[in-house]
Amino acid sequence: MPKILVTNDDGVHSEGIHALAAALRPLGQVIVAAPHIEASAIGHALTLRRPLRLERLRDGVYEIDGTPTDCVNIGITKLFQSLPDLVVSGINKGYNLGDDVTYSGTVSAAMEGTLLGVPSMAVSQVEGEVAGFEAAGRVAQLVAARLLVEGLPAKTLLNVNVPRGEVSGIRITRLGHRVYREKVIQEVDPRGRPYYWIGVGPPEWREDEASDIAAVHAGLASVTPLHLDLTHFGALGRMAEWEGGLNALLKKRQR
Ligand code: MN
Repeated sequence: MPKILVTNDDGVHSEGIHALAAALRPLGQVIVAAPHIEASAIGHALTLRRPLRLERLRDGVYEIDGTPTDCVNIGITKLFQSLPDLVVSGINKGYNLGDDVTYSGTVSAAMEGTLLGVPSMAVSQVEGEVAGFEAAGRVAQLVAARLLVEGLPAKTLLNVNVPRGEVSGIRITRLGHRVYREKVIQEVDPRGRPYYWIGVGPPEWREDEASDIAAVHAGLASVTPLHLDLTHFGALGRMAEWEGGLNALLKKRQR
């Protein structure tokens, strides 16, 4: 029976993580290990300067006073006898689309699973007045089942985003690009000092029919394969000629 680690960044008490665990239980043995409080937009942060505690809440559910990345590290090494077969992070309340994946604790947890050699995916669903993660749970189960059979190429993870309500289909997409405008609001506090608030206003996106954002806007669940080798191989080739000039200058300066 496949072993599955479930984590998130909204915290172990969020509704989405338990909807995800329930959706994945038919596929294997599920263990939940998640931050004890919300750790959204924390990116791929790893806690190195203080000890971490692992607390068992009930059978198969653990909380850790750390980041999603901490949870994947401790979960994989301490809660399973051997490497699990799958890490699934979510269901995040709110999309993780396009360039926003670089901030996302949800997606970073799946990145960590990938770096540790376990096929991994992140699942997010749009936030709405109507709660409930059934649609995202159903999509997560289908994609996870396929992932357990097919596996993934090296250093690759899946980023899944699910719109509200009835999902009319599933589309394989690429990351969209966000237009960052008026992202920081400046106000004055009661003591007359300026303060700043990041991430205000509705997100704007560059038009791209093949993107994850276009898919969810069309009512489709989006599945994007992400690659963790951040090297830009095109630039690598083009920049080879920098070497000669830089080294000549370096030698001159060192003389
Ligand atoms: Mn979150």
